Amino acid sequence: MIVDDLKDLLHDRLTSRARTDAETGCLIYPMPTLYVRSAQAPLPVAKIAAWIYRGIPLVGATRIVTVRSTCKPCCFNPDHLIILAAAKASKVVKRKLTGQTATEIKLEGRTMSVTAVADLHEITWRAVVRILNGETWGDL
Ligand SMILES: [Zn+2]
Repeated sequence: MIVDDLKDLLHDRLTSRARTDAETGCLIYPMPTLYVRSAQAPLPVAKIAAWIYRGIPLVGATRIVTVRSTCKPCCFNPDHLIILAAAKASKVVKRKLTGQTATEIKLEGRTMSVTAVADLHEITWRAVVRILNGETWGDL
């Protein structure tokens, strides 16, 4: 199936079961996720909408997709989507950690698995990878 066909199919699936909230303009799907066979997983409707209508990649955590805080749950109105760049996510990680912790993580990363280091510091494994790759705290 080519990409545009899949986008059409998902658009039809979303809109066929959606209702519009007259007050907020939210397009509301009955559930927060939609099962996508080609992804073999249920995906958040906001993330699907970001892909269909804005071309934001579905796979990989390159972008964080959410909806306005005033939105009804399960809203997928493309005008209500908030798409944060991964760079901002890195800044969030950097703010939570101190330089000393980042140095510890770099040392631990030599002997421990990424997931073990992540669990130890209660951060995501992606944050650990970014630190080990020097994408955040690269100046240490
Ligand atoms: Zn909305």
